Amino acid sequence: MPELPEVETTRRGIAPHVEGKRVTAVLVREPRLRWLVPELVQAAVGFEVAAVRRRAKYLLLDTEAGSIVIHLGMSGSLTVQSKNKVVEKHDHLDIVFDDGHCLRLNDPRRFGACLWQGANEPALKLFEGLGPEPLTDAFDGERLYQRSRGRTLAVKNFIMTNAIVVGVGNIYANEALFMSGIDPRKAAGKVSRQRYQRLANNIKVVLAQAIEQGGTTLRDFLGADGKPGYFRIQLKVYGKAGEPCPNCGAAIRSLNIGQRNSFYCPKCQR
Ligand SMILES: [Zn+2]
Repeated sequence: MPELPEVETTRRGIAPHVEGKRVTAVLVREPRLRWLVPELVQAAVGFEVAAVRRRAKYLLLDTEAGSIVIHLGMSGSLTVQSKNKVVEKHDHLDIVFDDGHCLRLNDPRRFGACLWQGANEPALKLFEGLGPEPLTDAFDGERLYQRSRGRTLAVKNFIMTNAIVVGVGNIYANEALFMSGIDPRKAAGKVSRQRYQRLANNIKVVLAQAIEQGGTTLRDFLGADGKPGYFRIQLKVYGKAGEPCPNCGAAIRSLNIGQRNSFYCPKCQR
């Protein structure tokens, strides 16, 4: 599933090909994505894309009339193609530009979305209640500490809660907790301020590393077979049940927390 770093890499990959281009058509071949693609997306036609932004895992193509909002769901990918390129299976939607290219959404499982946010309309429901972006100064250990007091929720689920901070997916939550020496099962309200400061910093580090690594795939966004390669940081615990901990050599354990696969070192994480 595309996580925040993949979405940010997609944003950086498509932005230079899309910004400053005028939308000449929005071709919807399959409107039945996670939500029905609204007719309103046609409101973008005739307008220039001023910027490509990301909020949580949503990409926004901003025009004067409003923004086309895209989510990649479980299996979606966006590429920049010649508008005449042969349409392949699961190519559900093209946003066509005045330079002869299009932004093409391919999504085999159709959990992705394409919606419209009008310029003068209230924010879509899906943007309500979102916490800060993890790589901004609005997110820090003090916020985690303050918001967690009295909460018995497992700290891993706490940092994966969008209202607390957006975009901390399962892989990154596991890795950041390992780097911080915090047991993922520990009650969020029992983690000290100092440890939350370390955790917030490590969340920033793992996400920034993944985005940096994603930069190497940027060239893939424009081209014939251009599906961006998704990528992984050097993982220390995620997916490594039974393997030795890189710090102490104890066997990494796995268990489900809130129905998510979790990995931790029983010695290093408390
Ligand atoms: Zn260990």
